Amino acid sequence: MKKTVYLFLSCLLMASSSFLSSCRTVPVTGRSQFILTSVEQEKALGLSAFKEYKTKFSKSTNSAYNAAMNSCAPAIIKATEYTEYDWEYTVFNSKTQNAFCLPGGKIAVYSGLMDLMNNEAELAFVVAHEVAHALARHGGEQSSWEQLQSLGSAIVSSQTGSAESATAFQKASELGVMLPFSRKHEYEADRIGMVLMAKAGYKPSAAIEFWSRFTKDSNDSIINGWMSTHPRDVDRIQAMRANLPEAEAAYAAAPRKRGYGMSL
Ligand SMILES: [Zn+2]
Repeated sequence: MKKTVYLFLSCLLMASSSFLSSCRTVPVTGRSQFILTSVEQEKALGLSAFKEYKTKFSKSTNSAYNAAMNSCAPAIIKATEYTEYDWEYTVFNSKTQNAFCLPGGKIAVYSGLMDLMNNEAELAFVVAHEVAHALARHGGEQSSWEQLQSLGSAIVSSQTGSAESATAFQKASELGVMLPFSRKHEYEADRIGMVLMAKAGYKPSAAIEFWSRFTKDSNDSIINGWMSTHPRDVDRIQAMRANLPEAEAAYAAAPRKRGYGMSL
């Protein structure tokens, strides 16, 4: 058998057996997803990236911001009912208008994004949306498709692919942490996030109120950070409205109602 054909068949076998053993179900939405990376690999990636962030940004000294974060983050984490992550949260002192939750549960919101918030419930939405990306392992899912893609291109070019795969893996790792997610992932994070914030006791409609202020039509000037990597259009608002009944039901069942929480 020609070397190329053999390589092709073995890669195909590897890919299909990986596929079968790598399907899982996303919490809340129940979507099936394909993931090659392990939770442990993702946690290690998230931890090293978070360490690096902490050397670049200092913790905010704004007492209102820290109080809101200390109040809402533990409530959102509890609502996930997920204990495999070593959850950690902080407010970074920076004009950057951004927020993230790294794979493994390392949450950060920049004070610049908090400057745009009216209350704790809006912060709860941003935190819950980011936590939803980590909980649904969107980074790992994105990297897995990248890895499969690079495997495919290695077969096509009939190379052993070791150097190529190493570069692709590096790229995939960066993707999981650094780059914006797909539209599908964003909508899914909104839906999971709205349910999580509601379970934590925050009014889920605050998510729509927050986001409505930053749609393209209503505010073209705010385009950096979080706003630039997240769809800012009527479709997103419409999808969020469609999520409301599910989130309102979670809010009704929440043991403690916080409403909008503290003002910011
Ligand atoms: Zn997002």
